[in-house]
Parts: sequence; structure tokens; C-alpha cells
Amino acid sequence: MRAMVIGGGVAGPVAALALRRVGWDVTVYEAYADPAGDVGSFVSLGANGLRALDAIGAAAAVTARGTAIPLLRLWSGRGRLLGETARERVTLMRGHLVETLRDLAAGAGAEVVTGRRLIDVRGRSAVFDDGTRDRADLVVGADGIHSRMRTIVDPRAATPVYAGLWTIGGRSTHPVEPGAFNLTFGARATFVHAATAHGTLWTAQVPAGRPGPAAEDVAALFAGDRSPATRVIERTEQWHPFTVMRRLPSTPAVHRDGMVLVGDAAHPIGAGQGASLAIEDAVVLAKCVRDAAAVDQALEAFAALRAPRTARMLRTAGATVDAKVAGPLAARVRDVMMPFFFRRFAARGSAWMYDYDVDWTTPAQA
Ligand SMILES: Cc1cc2nc3c(=O)[nH]c(=O)nc-3n(C[C@H](O)[C@H](O)[C@H](O)COP(=O)(O)OP(=O)(O)OC[C@H]3O[C@@H](n4cnc5c(N)ncnc54)[C@H](O)[C@@H]3O)c2cc1C
Repeated sequence: MRAMVIGGGVAGPVAALALRRVGWDVTVYEAYADPAGDVGSFVSLGANGLRALDAIGAAAAVTARGTAIPLLRLWSGRGRLLGETARERVTLMRGHLVETLRDLAAGAGAEVVTGRRLIDVRGRSAVFDDGTRDRADLVVGADGIHSRMRTIVDPRAATPVYAGLWTIGGRSTHPVEPGAFNLTFGARATFVHAATAHGTLWTAQVPAGRPGPAAEDVAALFAGDRSPATRVIERTEQWHPFTVMRRLPSTPAVHRDGMVLVGDAAHPIGAGQGASLAIEDAVVLAKCVRDAAAVDQALEAFAALRAPRTARMLRTAGATVDAKVAGPLAARVRDVMMPFFFRRFAARGSAWMYDYDVDWTTPAQA
């Protein structure tokens, strides 16, 4: 049996590696010529994403490229610690994650073709922008937020809309305390920063009715806050791209006729869980393929297994965006209430998110 994976970002190479582990031949098609390398923003993988990688033997290689950060700290813009909790995560450059996953997939025997963009799929036969075609028993759409596969699988699927936040970030030489991933709810924007092996990585998440402008003086957004933001930003030695956060107004159908969507193609998500959820999807898909009698049954099982978790994650991500775009009054309430709730519910309330285990060794059951 043979699978075609469209997209060589995060979900694509993980799907390829996992499908190789269950004995399938796999070809990955990626639109761009090269992995991003040191360019691009950073991602944090949660314990759930790392556990899913571990199930297919990929966690050690990924962890080796990043920095393990054991604590999460939330701050108000007035410098008050709103909450602190132990939360295992590994932070690494997105380019390094993609590169490592592609190498693992290729090392396991998957063919990785770069510089070839999918145009269409008809009857499990794919057409690419250079005129070439390919055919497989399963076509996996791992082509990200602006997915072409999404509209092929579900022609009525919504297109992504602006989520009310834009982000910019970078790598700074300003030293900060290691061991914690910090999120500060400033008066005008949220500031995320952490000490890593690549220096101090930071992101500004800026609520705005319209995206941008990218050229705005980012440090000035944090001038009135009590946080290291302005010092970190002023000593930025590498800027990461300006990004507009988008969401899907409705959830698309995730499979049809031997085609299936994974990762951002199915559910672009914030809350620092997009990559972890994409990894989970890819591993669960391979497990369903392994355990079902036919591809269509595997895709039914996959959709049923993933739908409740994806829906819950989308609700949580929506609430996280609300906290970041809170007006002055809502922000005051958040700053007063959060320490109380965080102390009592932080670990228990988010266990469903981080404790999730794809349970690779047991049969897939929808
Ligand atoms: C600024 C920012 C910060 C983020 N931080 C985090 C974080 O800390 N933690 C986290 O978990 N998530 C984070 N995310 C989200 C995370 O990056 C995504 O959820 C994750 O990359 C999704 O993986 P994917 O494989 O579905 O899509 P992608 O990683 O986007 O990969 C899709 C791939 O498909 C390729 N492609 C697209 N169209 C075609 C086509 N037609 N033919 C062939 N190839 C195609 C693309 O070139 C790309 O390589 C962040 C996102 C942003 C924008």
C-alpha cells in the first residue's frame, strides 16, 4: 500500500514516518525547495506532542535540537506573577523541527520530494504545478493553514479569517532567567519570552482590528509595562517574520474518498498547541491505517477519534485569544481572578491537553 503526503512541514513528515512504521510506502510532496533552517519563528512542543513523537521513535532527535523548559509563568503587565506551574515543553526553531522530522522520515525510507506544489487530486490521482502526476491508495493533506487539500476534500470548506491578533518576534542577546516560559499580559499586547540555547526568544502578540502594520515600533507597545519586553526587543539580533493569526470560521469535513486532512489543514489552532496537535493527528492516522481492514474504514475511525479533542482544543484556543485581546476592564478582572484560578486549577484543568497519549501499542478504537 502507498500513501502520498502533501506538505513537508510538521504533520507531513510525522505522518510519513508513522506510515513507514506500519509498513506503507510513502512519498512526501513539499511546495518549497528547502527546509527553513535557522530562519523563521520558534515553536514549543507540549508534553502531548513529545509523547506522540516518542510513540514513533522521534522524540529524542527533536528534543536534542531544542531547549527543555520546565516552568510556565504568567505575568500581568504591572509585573505581578499571576501563576506558575510545572509544564514540560521543548522550544525550538520551527525550521530545525521541520528539518529533523524530514530527515527522520527520509531515514525511515520515505521519499521526500521538494519544490513540487499540489494543484489538484482526482480519484486519488494528484496533479502538481510542474505537470507531473502521482497516484496512491491514501492522500494525506498536511499542507497547512492555506491548504489546497482542504477545498479538494471539502469543496464547501470555509477559508481562514483574521483572528484579531498579529505577531512578530525574534532572537535577542538580552539575557533572561532560564527555565521558564513567560507570558506577560501587557496593557497593549502580550509578550512571550524564554531563555533557550539559541538566545532569548520572544514574540509579541498584538490585538488589532486590522493586521499590522508590521513596521510599527514593537518595543513601544510595551513601554508602560513592568516586564523585560523593551530591553529584550531592543537587543534583537534576528527578527522573525511578521505573522497574521488566522482561524477557520467552521470545521471542514476531514476525509473523503481516500483523502484525509491533518494538522493546520484540518484545524489551524493557537494556544501554543498547533504543532503538537498536528503531530498527534499524524500518529493517530497511521495507527488507524494499521488497524483497519480498509483505507476508508481507517479514515472513519480517525475522524471519530480526533473530532472531540480537536473541538475542545479549538474552544480552549478561542479562550486564550480572548485573554490576549481583553479590553482594560476585562484585563483588570483577569489579573485579579487568574492567580486564584491558576493556583487551584492550572494542573488539573489542563491535564486533558497535556496528558493525552496516542497509545501506539493498543488497537485504534473509535
Ligand atoms: C508565529 C507562530 C507561532 C507558533 N507557535 C507555536 C507554538 O509555540 N507551539 C505550537 O504547537 N504551534 C505553534 N504554532 C502553530 C504551528 O506552527 C502549526 O500549527 C504547525 O506548523 C502546523 O503544522 P502543519 O504541518 O499542519 O502545517 P505547516 O507546518 O504549515 O506545514 C505545511 C506545509 O505544507 C506545504 N504546502 C502548502 N501547500 C502545499 C501544496 N499545495 N503542495 C505541497 N506542499 C504544500 C507548506 O510549504 C508547508 O511546508 C505557531 C504558528 C505561528 C504562525
